[in-house]
Amino acid sequence: MSHIKQADVIIIGGGIAGIGAAAMIAEQASVVVLEAESQCGYHASGRSAAIYIPSYGGPEVSRLTTASESYFTNANEYSNGQSFLQKRGLLSLACAGEEDIMSAHLAENSGPFEISIEEAIDLVPILNPESILRASIENSARDIDTDLLLQSWVKLCRSRKGEIKTGESVSAIHRQKGNWDVQTQSQKYRAPIVINAAGAWADQVASLAAVMAAGLQPRRRSAALISSPGDYDVNNWPLFGSVAEAWYVKPMGGKLMLSPADEDPVQPHDAFAEDMTILEGIDRYERAVTVPVDRVENSWAGLRTFADDKVPVVGWEPGVEGFFWLAGQGGYGFQIAPALSLMVSKLVLDQELSADEQALTTALSPARFR
Ligand SMILES: Cc1cc2nc3c(=O)[nH]c(=O)nc-3n(C[C@H](O)[C@H](O)[C@H](O)COP(=O)(O)OP(=O)(O)OC[C@H]3O[C@@H](n4cnc5c(N)ncnc54)[C@H](O)[C@@H]3O)c2cc1C
Repeated sequence: MSHIKQADVIIIGGGIAGIGAAAMIAEQASVVVLEAESQCGYHASGRSAAIYIPSYGGPEVSRLTTASESYFTNANEYSNGQSFLQKRGLLSLACAGEEDIMSAHLAENSGPFEISIEEAIDLVPILNPESILRASIENSARDIDTDLLLQSWVKLCRSRKGEIKTGESVSAIHRQKGNWDVQTQSQKYRAPIVINAAGAWADQVASLAAVMAAGLQPRRRSAALISSPGDYDVNNWPLFGSVAEAWYVKPMGGKLMLSPADEDPVQPHDAFAEDMTILEGIDRYERAVTVPVDRVENSWAGLRTFADDKVPVVGWEPGVEGFFWLAGQGGYGFQIAPALSLMVSKLVLDQELSADEQALTTALSPARFR
């Protein structure tokens, strides 16, 4: 009989959620992360737009985003002394029919403020003054160095003797005598606690453990790398896009990443962009600018996974001992990761929560669906 690997906590999924939780929990307990792919961050976590937007998401997400800021801005030894956030800014634009959405965006958020069309064109000279009716800027939106964050947590986890096993796809999960037995193709793992951080596959992983689904819906989001318009140096442009989230563009390595901001519901899979979706996004973008897209250099897609209420699903499954959810981070999984990882480690290790964390646990708990 093959050897069974025992740990205090098994985490299924090596995206930013699973690795962040592992890095924090490993300080006080033995942790094994099981990741099906050959590298961590292969799925959603390797395909994000890598932006931190305080005004994005509902109140729970906002609180986690704000609570994450100090971790992001303080360099540490695992980040090679670098901060995880860099200046960017978010320029939101309203074309015809989107003016009311701009009013709501400004009324609901304290970060963004309205600027004139001339000021917007100073920031992004290719904007078309004939199609843009209103503009706002949110200076606190910043780039997240997502690779640095993931790799720094991989290092932190390993320095605390946490184990990260790639190429280990979990195919069966059974509870017996106070432990979960977790089977991969090569080995059996055993621990009293399992954390389900399987991203788009989280409902499927729950069903392996005979746990009810949380109703998570993966939604595809596509992106294309387009060549820089004309002779412009785009590096210092803000991220800019429709306030109605119909498209957005972010400077990336001297070029522009254009997303059609699609949200098509799909089954969990290794996502890729469809040409038609990219073309529709280009069409919406071209209506707002004066320079058409010259060349699409590359395209990709990833899955943003949401619960019905768009609030992450985090906490113990009611009535099922030792089964913990860490899923449904939608389009905010990076910007909330530091605060969420810390909160998860406290919940899993049964440590005292701050008043803010305490308030969030009820809102995020899977118990809301039961
Ligand atoms: C195009 C796009 C743009 C985005 N932009 C932003 C942004 O600007 N800012 C932001 O904060 N967030 C953004 N997000 C969201 C963010 O990327 C996600 O919320 C986050 O990456 C989710 O992390 P995760 O660890 O839950 O999921 P994943 O990274 O998908 O990780 C889950 C892992 O579980 C593994 N797994 C699944 N089943 C099994 C199994 N049976 N056994 C073992 N392993 C398994 C998978 O292989 C996968 O690696 C964006 C997402 C996309 C797709």
